[in-house]
Amino acid sequence: MTGAKMIGCINHPNVEAMGRCRQCSKPVCKQCGFATPEGMYCSEFCQAKHQDFMKRTVDADVDLNKRQKRNFRQKMSALVTFVVIVAVLILGAGLLSIFVHIPYLSYWTITVRSFLGLM
Ligand SMILES: [Zn+2]
Ligand SMILES: [Zn+2]
Repeated sequence: MTGAKMIGCINHPNVEAMGRCRQCSKPVCKQCGFATPEGMYCSEFCQAKHQDFMKRTVDADVDLNKRQKRNFRQKMSALVTFVVIVAVLILGAGLLSIFVHIPYLSYWTITVRSFLGLM
């Protein structure tokens, strides 16, 4: 074997491959492979398979987009729920401190403050 860099065709090892099939990446010569606008293929079967694969990839991308949008909406509604819960908690704590805590708490603070003031 001379020319270590030469890649032989899958069907004709002595003929230099023109390129590799886009689907199965087998090296093929001019005679075996055929070129299309999107690249080389070793057979029509591989071309069909690759185009089907590409189509499915695009479909998957569209699905991913939809899923990301749905995720975003879910996150937004989760955020809104969180904000509402926090607001309710703050309001509840405020109301609770008005009706329950503050009379006792302020009485206690005044006692402590006056006690400290006397010291
Ligand atoms: Zn192929
Ligand atoms: Zn060949």
